[in-house]
Formats: sequence, C-alpha cells, structure tokens
Amino acid sequence: MNIIKNDSGWLELIVGPMFSGKTEELIRRVRRAAIAGQSVMVFKPAIDKRYDEIKIVSHSEIHFPSQPIQNASDILTYTQNIQVIGIDEGQFLGNPLIDVVNALLEQHKRVIIAGLDLDYRGIPFEPIPFLMAMAEYVDKFLAICVRCGNPASRTQRLVAGGARVIVGAAELYEARCRNCWTNPDEIVPPDIEQKRIDLL
Ligand code: ADP
Ligand code: ZN
Repeated sequence: MNIIKNDSGWLELIVGPMFSGKTEELIRRVRRAAIAGQSVMVFKPAIDKRYDEIKIVSHSEIHFPSQPIQNASDILTYTQNIQVIGIDEGQFLGNPLIDVVNALLEQHKRVIIAGLDLDYRGIPFEPIPFLMAMAEYVDKFLAICVRCGNPASRTQRLVAGGARVIVGAAELYEARCRNCWTNPDEIVPPDIEQKRIDLL
C-alpha cells in the first residue's frame, strides 16, 4: 500500500555517541512531520526505561510520545496506517530490525532511526552499521568531550567490564573524543577505577 502517494519510502539514520543529540534530532524531525499533517509514530525498545515508559526523552529533557516494544517485529503491528516511523535506541532491537525496516520501506514509509554507532568498546554496534549502509540519509552527530572540549565521537563507560548493554544510567557514561577515550575493558585508568569504587 502506498501510504505516501506518488512517493517512495526512505531511511534516515541519526548516529553518534551518547549525549550527541540523536534523540533531540529525532524529535525535531517527527515534530515537523506531525506539523505537516503526516501520521507519525515513535518506538523505543522496552529495555530503555531511563526516564519514562511512554515517551522518548532527550538528555536535555525534550520529549515526544513513544510506544515501547519488546521486539523489532512489533513495529509492523502498529504502523499499517502510519506514514512516518521514528525509532530511538535502534541498537537495542538487534539484527531483526533490518528485515522490519525493509518491510516498512517496501510499504513506502519514511523511517527515521536514532542509535549508537559504536558500543562502549568502540566496536560498531549492530545493526546500526548495516542500517547506515542501507539508508538514503546518514547524519553522524558529535557531543562535546567532557575532558578537553573537542568534538566527541565516543561514549566512555566509567566502569570496567560488564555487559555490552547497561542501559540508562547517564552517570555511568560520558562523551569523549578519540584522544581522551579509553576502552575500560583493556586499561583501567585511575579515574575510572575511582568511579568504579564510587558507583558499584
Ligand atoms: P543522545 O540521544 O545522542 O544521547 P540527547 O538528544 O538525549 O542525545 O541529548 C543531547 C543533549 O545532551 C544536549 O543538547 C545537551 O543538552 C546534553 N549534553 C549533556 N552532556 C553533553 C556533552 N558532553 N556534549 C553535548 N551535549 C551534552
Ligand atoms: Zn577529549
């Protein structure tokens, strides 16, 4: 079904480290679509319960209603009559998100995905790299390095070890540039060690 008449669907990716403004940008885009009278729905993985269950909230506290989902395929059950689909924290929905996005694009929908391009070890965070390759538009955002003020492309986890996903807890992470960033699993600099003692 062609929801956006005489047009094709397309995929937009908004990537970067934590605090880079991905959620703010996603909200800006879906608000504009809603103002234009398009039907809009935003989803977030239920795993991400940081601030609120039924809205996405940026670190600067702007927000937009969202539907929490357990699995990427849940999106298809909600979006039959929706033209513009936003997905926050896409990295937590895993590789099944790829087929879901393809299905949405075949239905000529506009899909906007925000997510981390790298995990806390600096390793590409699937399925975001794959989705970046599929996308018509990719925007990579940077934060400000809290150490030196340079543009920050990395997310520093302030505790050593642990799972790939430790959700929420902005106090466990900070934005850093390539020079100031360290892999907490390889070397534990004194400041990280100190924070590990403080936080756990
Ligand atoms: P993301 O979704 O990429 O984690 P958000 O959109 O939730 O980012 O938050 C971006 C906001 O975070 C900025 O507008 C700013 O108010 C705040 N912020 C906090 N720490 C930083 C930082 N180190 N660099 C840039 N912005 C920061
Ligand atoms: Zn730095």
